Amino acid sequence: MTSTALPVQPSRGPLRPLGLGEVEITGGEWALRQQVNGEATLAHCHGWMERLGWTANFTHAAAGTIVGNHQGMMFADSDVYKLMEAMAWEVGRSGSADAERRFGELTAVIAPAQEADGYLNTVFGRAGQPQRYSDLEWGHELYNDGHLFQAAVARARTVGSDDFVAIARRVADHVCDTFGEGGIERVGGHPEVELGLVELARQTGEQRYLDQAATFVRRRGTGTLGEIPFGQAYFQDDVPIRDADVFRGHAVRAMYLAAGAVDVAVETEDDELIEALVAQWEATVARRTYLTGGMGSTHTGEAFGDDFMLPPDRAYSETCAGIGSVMLAWRLLLATGESRFADLIERTLYNVVATSAAPDGRHFFYANPLHQRVPGSVPSDDVESKRASSSLREPWFLVACCPTNVARTLASLAGYLATADGTGIQIHQYVPSRITTTIEGGRRIGVEVTTGYPHDGTVTVRVVETDGQPWTLTLRVPPWADGAEVADGTERRPVAPGTAVVDRPFTVGDEVTLHVPLTPRWTLPDPRIDAIRGCAAVERGPLVLCAESVDLPGQRHVDLLRVDTSVPPADRDGSVVVAAKFLDPGGDSWPYGAAADVAMPVADDAEVPLLAYNQWANRGPSTMRVWLPTV
Ligand SMILES: [Zn+2]
Repeated sequence: MTSTALPVQPSRGPLRPLGLGEVEITGGEWALRQQVNGEATLAHCHGWMERLGWTANFTHAAAGTIVGNHQGMMFADSDVYKLMEAMAWEVGRSGSADAERRFGELTAVIAPAQEADGYLNTVFGRAGQPQRYSDLEWGHELYNDGHLFQAAVARARTVGSDDFVAIARRVADHVCDTFGEGGIERVGGHPEVELGLVELARQTGEQRYLDQAATFVRRRGTGTLGEIPFGQAYFQDDVPIRDADVFRGHAVRAMYLAAGAVDVAVETEDDELIEALVAQWEATVARRTYLTGGMGSTHTGEAFGDDFMLPPDRAYSETCAGIGSVMLAWRLLLATGESRFADLIERTLYNVVATSAAPDGRHFFYANPLHQRVPGSVPSDDVESKRASSSLREPWFLVACCPTNVARTLASLAGYLATADGTGIQIHQYVPSRITTTIEGGRRIGVEVTTGYPHDGTVTVRVVETDGQPWTLTLRVPPWADGAEVADGTERRPVAPGTAVVDRPFTVGDEVTLHVPLTPRWTLPDPRIDAIRGCAAVERGPLVLCAESVDLPGQRHVDLLRVDTSVPPADRDGSVVVAAKFLDPGGDSWPYGAAADVAMPVADDAEVPLLAYNQWANRGPSTMRVWLPTV
């Protein structure tokens, strides 16, 4: 494992990301999730793809028998590649022999399907199939390629260049040959190839991959895609990237495109483009993002809604959009050095990514609504879900983008926790871990992070490697952490949200401790978010909490719950409780009228326990809500 085993490796920027060879997650809930991911999720995903014939698509393509035999969606190839990316990171993370074997098997299945000129896709181009690139709006060929490139980068950075990496390079050469100036001067409907090409350029040093990515970014928004029912904003072809003022359209597409555009901007030293993307990110976070960090508030088009259109029950908040948001925020953090991007990463990791996968690693949420009105039914473990929204986590989906996205994110998570600059280490996420790196002058420094965060607010950073000379330890202080303190030896001082910096000579065994208050707190919404006016939520540290009917007295429906925000939420026996009342719904009647007509009497008072939103629906069908109406 090399120190450069990381998902994103920009050639410049104020912060240098630390890779899997420099950061090891050593314990806590993320370590457990990584273990389950490696031991259960990868095999689970691989099994479904075999069973549904998605891997056999490549075999049929190579054998000339694909027509009439293709299984799954037209982007099923991308799911195989995304799973391979997860496997590559897992081999790098844990040395898993099982993941290595599966990766080799899949490489052997895919390789014969590549055509002589490098083209690789199971849906287009053969006799009896539509012509290559004849449906750039919906065909997903370049999208698939982007995931292939990311998987190849993961492979090259963990194990080294092999047959699979060679396959990806031939595809990339083909894309450059085909979509360069004088070729097909258009873009693909689903962004992803851009960030894949940049990362492959970073890995191989191949300038034309970067040039092609820059070309795709420049062309986007110039109307090279045809009209579709959702409108051109759906695939961000309505406005050139640098002229837009907010993210819009299909949320996953928007996030992947913006992430790729940051990559291009960093490598081409286009600071104006970075500034434009930061401004779009600010507007989107201020007006189009859920409390969970989730993005996408309409099921139609899986898309961003208008400003402040954030209905909790109709939230789409696709798991992949959350992961795309993490990918974008990480790139912006590296490009700017600003800790606010790490704040959103934390919020999204704990409340979207951690929500998707069940503890068994074999069931997933696709959509992540903040309010479940109807208790659902337990899904079959033998049938893939045909829809994105469900009331319980599903084993698999017809459109299966989310499970493998979670898998690759968890397997590479160590690559998103910490950075270095010339003078020291910056720790952005508090996970039990060991971080070692080399800073300017070839100086080796290292720390061990011990913490029960986010359930406990004490984060201890112990120096395990140092040369006795001064260096800088920077700790992120989350925006909600009023009253945080840093203890350094005998000194203890208050620190404001942002970052806390300790700059001094260290000796091995020195400890710096960050204390963040985790008192549960009421959170109120901007009054312009109509759908949750009159509601409040409870957060504890980075965790968004929710009420779930299985915890309510008599398992009453969450819609009857009213909370009293004049009483602070309180920690009680490992749970958080709020003062509440339950309404008596009476019988059905016309639900509009004068105050007296629609008033519902209070049935009783109660103290109601809340739980972390990422834990909801783990105990069977229930109703649930994050935003609780106030009395
Ligand atoms: Zn998805």
